[in-house]
Amino acid sequence: MKTKLPPARKARPATKSTAAPKPRRMLIDGEWLYANSGETFSTYNPATGEVICEVAAGGSVDVDRAVKAARAAFESGPWRKMTASERGRILWRLADLLEKNLEEFAVLESLDNGKPLAVARAADVPLAIDLFRYMAGWTTKIHGSTFPISVPYAPGAQFFAYTQREPIGVVGQIIPWNFPLLMAAWKLGPALATGCTVVLKPAEQTPLTALRLGELIIEAGFPPGVVNIVTGLGETAGAALAAHPGIDKIAFTGSTEVGKLIVQAASRDLKKVSLELGGKSPNLVLEDADLDIAIPGAASAIYFNHGQCCCAGSRLYVHKKHFDKVVEGVAAAAKKIKVGPGHEPETEMGPLVSEEQLNRVMGFLQAGQDEGAKSLAGGARVGKKGYFVQPTLLVNTKPGMKVMEEEIFGPVVCAVPFSSVEEVVSHANNNVYGLASAVWTKDVSKAHRIASQLRAGTVWVNCYNIFDAAMPFGGYKQSGWGREMGAEALELYTETKAVCIRL
Ligand code: ADP
Repeated sequence: MKTKLPPARKARPATKSTAAPKPRRMLIDGEWLYANSGETFSTYNPATGEVICEVAAGGSVDVDRAVKAARAAFESGPWRKMTASERGRILWRLADLLEKNLEEFAVLESLDNGKPLAVARAADVPLAIDLFRYMAGWTTKIHGSTFPISVPYAPGAQFFAYTQREPIGVVGQIIPWNFPLLMAAWKLGPALATGCTVVLKPAEQTPLTALRLGELIIEAGFPPGVVNIVTGLGETAGAALAAHPGIDKIAFTGSTEVGKLIVQAASRDLKKVSLELGGKSPNLVLEDADLDIAIPGAASAIYFNHGQCCCAGSRLYVHKKHFDKVVEGVAAAAKKIKVGPGHEPETEMGPLVSEEQLNRVMGFLQAGQDEGAKSLAGGARVGKKGYFVQPTLLVNTKPGMKVMEEEIFGPVVCAVPFSSVEEVVSHANNNVYGLASAVWTKDVSKAHRIASQLRAGTVWVNCYNIFDAAMPFGGYKQSGWGREMGAEALELYTETKAVCIRL
């Protein structure tokens, strides 16, 4: 989907400043700059719809400047000459600085994105810290291998052959608004661990934590140009980055629709591409599930982060024997969720991120109703101010209905009964996406069997939304290309070079 924001306004003319990131500036080559055009866009508090501040509306000139800075830092700056251990220490220092400022980041994230402060404090920021530490540990362990070679057409000759893994180069990274800081960490961590340099574009809805992170990046000691943060709209700054010929690789997280545009732009010069896209993740409650954990688990699978998770458990398949009990339990959990502004301590679910998202989710609810779905909980907007939606549970949903096939990206789950494991696995796999999935069962053999049958990048068993820096995450089918986190993420940012020496 496209983000529609009010037209950018003219701000002050482009100037340079080395001061801390006041609103309206972005980080390029170690300096805080206004957009070349002088234009800005507003970032909003989704709990009120009010403007928080103005942010630089970067465009193609700014992207070009950032790419050149990243190229210079990659080719000839001090970054290139640093040892792997030194790079690791800087990354670790960044994690320490983030930890020292955890509360500030949590407050900023909650303000800009709308999520409950307690969630940002317990999940978003600690996961970002952990990711940087995990990747700091990898810097000294990225290596090639040696292997015997036989070369049938060179009898008698001797060779010594090995591989080395080298940074891919200058990387463009475009991230979404649902976990703004964490997505920045998922992207920056492996790129920096492998020795790449980066131009990062945060989502226009939530640029604030990335900008604050830019300050810590300087403080941690990353040389100028290693990380550049260009704020701006998707169709201008994002599109310019994806198309820029000076970029070796583009990494994107966001909608499948925009992912396809990124691929088109990158294909002009065959940039490497990795994509983490949408999902419509199936959550399977089997006949032998422990309902005491499956019911709250199914509720949290969809309602965590207001359903604004690409891996949200949005298709809930329940064995027919337990269907009524499970849907009643999930509906009761939905009705109990305290919806409110992120900064209020009792809030369990905040507003959706933007008016556009609100309208989109309400459109899905209307489509569900039109096609015969019935809501057992929620189904409506909350209040008139801010972008709040009730946690919603739909039944009478059938394959082919819009709410069953498409990613809603809101707190809306469709519950469907099933009779057999074969039937439910087939339903689960019958979708264009393949990001995540879950199975609730007491039978460990069944869990393993189903895990191998599900066409999804993650299978959670008797849990949901468990993330760790060591565990790869990414999608089958139209959910993306490549894996983030874990050792797999390093592959996205390295080239393998084979060296062959005749002795
Ligand atoms: P969502 O559906 O979650 O809003 P989008 O895919 O629209 O996600 O946005 C995710 C990121 O992609 C954001 O940083 C956004 O600015 C960027 N983006 C949007 N449109 C484009 C585009 N045409 N080219 C490059 N980036 C884009």
